[in-house]
Amino acid sequence: MIPTRSFLIEIKKKKNSEIYNNITVLYLYNYIPPFSKGNRGEGLYTFQEKKLYFKRNKNYTMPHSIQTIFQEFIEKKATIFKDRNALTSDFKPNTIPHRNNEINTLALILAPSLRGGKPSNIFVYGMTGTGKTLVTRYVGNELEKMSNQGATPVKVIYINCKMKKVTDTEYRLVAELSRIMGQEVPVTGLPTEYVYQTFFNVLDSTNWVVVVILDEIDALVNRMGDDFLYNFTRINQELKKAKVSIVGITNDLHFIDVLDPRVKSSLSEEEILFPPYNALELQDILKQRTELGLEPGVISEEVIPKCAALAAQEHGDARRALDLLRVAGEIAERENSLKITEKHVDTALEKIDYDRIIESVKSLPKQTKALLWSIINLEDGGQKNMQTGDIYSIYENICKESALHPLTQRRVSDLISELDMMGIINARIISLGRYGRTREINLNVSEKIKNMMKDVLKPVLML
Ligand code: ADP
Ligand code: MG
Repeated sequence: MIPTRSFLIEIKKKKNSEIYNNITVLYLYNYIPPFSKGNRGEGLYTFQEKKLYFKRNKNYTMPHSIQTIFQEFIEKKATIFKDRNALTSDFKPNTIPHRNNEINTLALILAPSLRGGKPSNIFVYGMTGTGKTLVTRYVGNELEKMSNQGATPVKVIYINCKMKKVTDTEYRLVAELSRIMGQEVPVTGLPTEYVYQTFFNVLDSTNWVVVVILDEIDALVNRMGDDFLYNFTRINQELKKAKVSIVGITNDLHFIDVLDPRVKSSLSEEEILFPPYNALELQDILKQRTELGLEPGVISEEVIPKCAALAAQEHGDARRALDLLRVAGEIAERENSLKITEKHVDTALEKIDYDRIIESVKSLPKQTKALLWSIINLEDGGQKNMQTGDIYSIYENICKESALHPLTQRRVSDLISELDMMGIINARIISLGRYGRTREINLNVSEKIKNMMKDVLKPVLML
């Protein structure tokens, strides 16, 4: 093995050498020659008729750069995250980029409360992850802080209507509001009227302006109809001292249309629409969280734009952008990688979609599971563009096998729409000219996810 000339010159320039018995001894210092073998390069070599002896210096240390890499590796092993929390959706950042308009509008509508006036009820709506909860809570907090300095106390109550424990019945909800106002009510057993009265009394014993934020208000209405909202929007007519305003928040853009017109008009005295974020806005949001949540320098350049672009494609959802980045970080960390790369984002995307689909398949009612199984069966049999009728006959058989009572075709057709909305299948309406319309139904998941779904469905249907 012969060293190249340029390499030797380089060694000579850098390293100490001495001549011994006509043999040039080159001490390997911080350098392993590229022609080294198992002996790390020690040994006698001939180069241009000169004998060179490479010897390892006593103080030989590992090349500095490699050492740094290893050291960094050891230290950085578990430190992609500085504060993982900052990348979760529960985290409340101090500043909220790209939501100035919404913050100001909300603040302007609520501000009269600081002088004892009743603010209009507000209906806040927009797709998931557009910052509705964050902004409303933020403005609510600021309002309460401000009111502590003034004469009229403003109390802001936040209720997430998805939390079943509090909001599964009108009784519980009013009892909870009463409790927050300082008057405990037994959790069951009293007439609902009485609970209302208790809440009403405790409320009117103050001169407060109470702003009740009902987040995910659609969940409330789905569970108990709109009577509660009807009663609640009318409460001010009876109050003498206190005043109540409602801020209703929903991700469901069609929710307002299903309400009783009277409830609708009083709930939406003011409306604020939260538009989706675009990819650049999402990048800013991600950068802010990255600074708080990740160690400096752990993300490759293309990662933030990629997470932002993927989330913008969907519908400008900041939660999805954050989930992508956090899960990519977790994957990188697990691999002991020093950096989050584009590849980790790809894996994160797959994992998130997979979790989402499998979780939702698990929570489907048994009938819908049987229906989904029928669709998968048909597809496995090579059928494309299925029609409701094809699916229904398989579904009836599956019901027989798993001792289920089959639903009507009309009902099954509704369930197909639900699966379509969940994104598990794709149901395209096509026109048959004068024969009306029909739907072409196809499964909308990868082979891999389809197989996972089968594993979930099979034992449940006892097939
Ligand atoms: P929504 O209630 O509209 O579904 P959220 O308010 O819960 O959305 O926001 C989803 C996630 O995105 C939260 O983690 C929130 O902190 C973050 N987020 C949304 N908008 C912004 C923003 N403008 N700046 C910083 N973080 C944001
Ligand atoms: Mg929300």
